[in-house]
Amino acid sequence: MQQSRKNEVSVLRYGHRPGRDDRMTTHVGLTARALGADQVIFPDNATQSVETVTDIVTRFGGPFDVKRTDALNRVIREWSGTVVHLTMYGERVQDVTERIRDTCLHKESLLIIIGGEKVPSDVYEWADWNVAVTNQPHSEVAGLAVFLDRLFRGQELDEEWTDAEHVVIPQASGKRVVDTELTETESDEVNTESQSEKRFWLLS
Ligand code: SAM
Repeated sequence: MQQSRKNEVSVLRYGHRPGRDDRMTTHVGLTARALGADQVIFPDNATQSVETVTDIVTRFGGPFDVKRTDALNRVIREWSGTVVHLTMYGERVQDVTERIRDTCLHKESLLIIIGGEKVPSDVYEWADWNVAVTNQPHSEVAGLAVFLDRLFRGQELDEEWTDAEHVVIPQASGKRVVDTELTETESDEVNTESQSEKRFWLLS
């Protein structure tokens, strides 16, 4: 499998139980995209999540790649770059992220692995870094979000998106979404008609 276009930060979802994990796996992809990763790699059976995240990229912009693999272990073993595995048993994120950033980011491609069900012990061995966001059990989505934000020092929050069909305009209250194919006046009309909620938030 080819590595990502920008060849920088990829997220690998290790394991997926269709039905039970659909929502969580999708949120892994959405969080990876929103918080600065270049691509997500899903297990082959995560078809629903591939569709949803791809749809969000089409509507809200990229660049962001969504890939699937039937060979999770091979992706890790053959990764040409640094492999970070997020796990509650790892080293503390506050102790190691600076070293990971300084030695790897922008120098080699980074693969971030997050689990679902039990991750085999081999993955702990293959990883260059096992990193914990607290040594307490919680969620892969939360762990990924905190790690990415620390890796990028918060700069991912200012990222700009290209080829978006819809752009959300920040508001103190209410919702405003500009449809890039409509004029601003037409978009305002759409928003006034309160259709934006129905049209743009199809994730639940
Ligand atoms: N015992 C698992 C572990 O190794 O972290 C918890 C399983 S949890 C349901 C699923 C995934 O969430 C884990 O594979 C890991 O990637 C992530 N995760 C959970 N707690 C974490 C933590 N404190 N730090 C980093 N990642 C965590």
